Amino acid sequence: MRAAVFHAVDQPLAIEDVPDPTPGPRDLVVEVKCCGICGSDLHAAGPSGGLPDGCVMGHEFAGRVVEVGGEATGSFAPGDAVTAIPGIGCGACAECLAGDVMHCRALKITGLGDLPGAYAQYLRVGSNEALHLPEALDFRQGALVEPLAVGLNAARAAGLTSGQNVMVIGAGPIGLAVTLWARFFGARSILVSEPAPGRRAMAEAMGATHGVDGSASAAPLLAEMPGGGADVIFECVGVPGLLAQCVDLAAARSKVVVAGVCMQPDTWVPGVALIKELQLQFVLAYRKSDFQLTLDMMADGRIDPGPMVTDRVGLSQMPEAFEALKHPSTQCKVLVEP
Ligand SMILES: [Zn+2]
Ligand SMILES: [Zn+2]
Repeated sequence: MRAAVFHAVDQPLAIEDVPDPTPGPRDLVVEVKCCGICGSDLHAAGPSGGLPDGCVMGHEFAGRVVEVGGEATGSFAPGDAVTAIPGIGCGACAECLAGDVMHCRALKITGLGDLPGAYAQYLRVGSNEALHLPEALDFRQGALVEPLAVGLNAARAAGLTSGQNVMVIGAGPIGLAVTLWARFFGARSILVSEPAPGRRAMAEAMGATHGVDGSASAAPLLAEMPGGGADVIFECVGVPGLLAQCVDLAAARSKVVVAGVCMQPDTWVPGVALIKELQLQFVLAYRKSDFQLTLDMMADGRIDPGPMVTDRVGLSQMPEAFEALKHPSTQCKVLVEP
């Protein structure tokens, strides 16, 4: 099969022939119909990413089942439209049985080195990690379930309830997903801080009530919020200094939820958070129930991630699109359709 293969940091991905996947007893092989390009792939392929030579990335996918392992669970058959959590767990531990596969100690992650990902024609997924796509959804929508589930997990971790004031720092795909869920959970006001005007417009299309071009200029808007501040601030960027900004901007007894992936040392003053009695929560992935709720709400037309999709490319144009995303652009979520 054809796949976009990573070789080295300073080289574009290469479209090459690689072996077709074969399913283990509990696995499915899926023909990839659509896969989103993720910021974490761009990071993984960068100087500090540590991606192994030969890796096929891609972890936000949907496609059609073409092969079913003999001991697969979940009544999958060839032809079924599916998406899946991008990783295969042991299937037997407490985490796997509770749908919290991403915390299985034997987890093999898809598309970041352990297992080949979905920038390819075919992909092996676990039947325990796979979910049927409702009939109302197409494969493009299916490929957006993963980033939306990240936002849902963050919103759930924040314990969002109706009438709250929310601030979201960063309107990349994760900030936009958080914005969408904040509206879904009934936030009163959603202030999104984002320097790119195009992304601020996307945030407004997905539920933001206010936009500012940087978190520093957010302070006066926060002060005007009913109650005098945000109940929750979501950090969805992941660069040093933002945690300190969140703590400075946070109201007393509020929450800061960190979804941005910052892999460098950072400095902030715990005493400021202590004086305000802040709750600080870090979030990364999702549970299977987050995938299912996302699928169901999208199928019912109650959430629409459409505004975040800015481009679609075939597999052969994918390396070029991937290179372009390494530099600031007006793109947000780019979908690959092998
Ligand atoms: Zn992703
Ligand atoms: Zn497990």
